[in-house]
Amino acid sequence: MKLIFAPYPLHLKHKFGVSGHTRTATPDVLIKIEHQGFVGYGEASMPPYLGESIESVCNFLTKINLKQFNDPFQLEDILEYVDKTANGNCAAKASIDIALHDLIGKILNVPCYKLFGLNPTKTPLTTYTIGIDTNEMMQQKVKEVEGQFKILKVKLGTDRDKEIIESIRLITNLPIAVDANQGWKDLSEAMEMTHWLKEQGVVLIEQPMSKERLDDIAKLTEQSPIPIYADESVQRLYDIARLKGAFNGINIKLMKCTGMREAWKMINTAKALGMKVMLGCMTETSCAVSAAAQLSPAIDFADLDGNLLISNDPFEGIKIINGKITLNARPGIGLSPKQEIIFK
Ligand code: MG
Repeated sequence: MKLIFAPYPLHLKHKFGVSGHTRTATPDVLIKIEHQGFVGYGEASMPPYLGESIESVCNFLTKINLKQFNDPFQLEDILEYVDKTANGNCAAKASIDIALHDLIGKILNVPCYKLFGLNPTKTPLTTYTIGIDTNEMMQQKVKEVEGQFKILKVKLGTDRDKEIIESIRLITNLPIAVDANQGWKDLSEAMEMTHWLKEQGVVLIEQPMSKERLDDIAKLTEQSPIPIYADESVQRLYDIARLKGAFNGINIKLMKCTGMREAWKMINTAKALGMKVMLGCMTETSCAVSAAAQLSPAIDFADLDGNLLISNDPFEGIKIINGKITLNARPGIGLSPKQEIIFK
């Protein structure tokens, strides 16, 4: 197998604000793995707060020697080698995992959701994310997608959270999921916000407080009228067990957890522990979003809109129709390149 990669910086349609920072671009690397005439595509998307960069991803991929493997179906062996090559580098690792799944789906000529035994009609709705901005811009972002989504996700964790929700409520009655991105300072603020948000038609809260405050989050979850999901508190499979009881659910992202194979293990582990599962994403192309969507019939809640937030998506992949994730019958992760990507 041959691994080829190329930096592909993503341009965001709007500046994207979350609690703590704002940006207009996302570093990204696209990869392809070639084997016996088949090509699998993968992607590493790196929002700066996770510590990876185009340089770190390219350095990691340079160390990977896939030529030692002749059988792309031996995912456990290949991905164990990739994971052990260096600590961290989760987005870089995810790019290889995604490309291998795309490759084996293409060799077998079946979509990946079939390989996982999933029913494509059971995909969930996805939220559409409204980043932090002025009230007017946030209202405009809601209006731009009117009629296309049945649920919104609003970023909070500011000192004007109630004002943001009130201004959005002036123009829409859609259910809202809220992501505080660790922005609420303490238990009393989180408790007060949670009960207030219930009155505003909020149906889910993601990462209310700092991941360091697990005991406080557990107390909040115990009394919250709205389900509380972990995002920053959970990265990989080994994180889940200690979160039981502290959160109602977890947000799995391929770029955090090293890809589809570990995500599938996480989905089943969370379910076994009685927790709900959400699949989320970074701002990324249709490549990684379509890969995550292959697993979406198995989950409770989806936030897979990252490809819709960028203006230079080089792929066509899964679609959102009437707010619902809609898989296609293409093999692998379901991609069709819209343009030639210049790989080194
Ligand atoms: Mg989040």
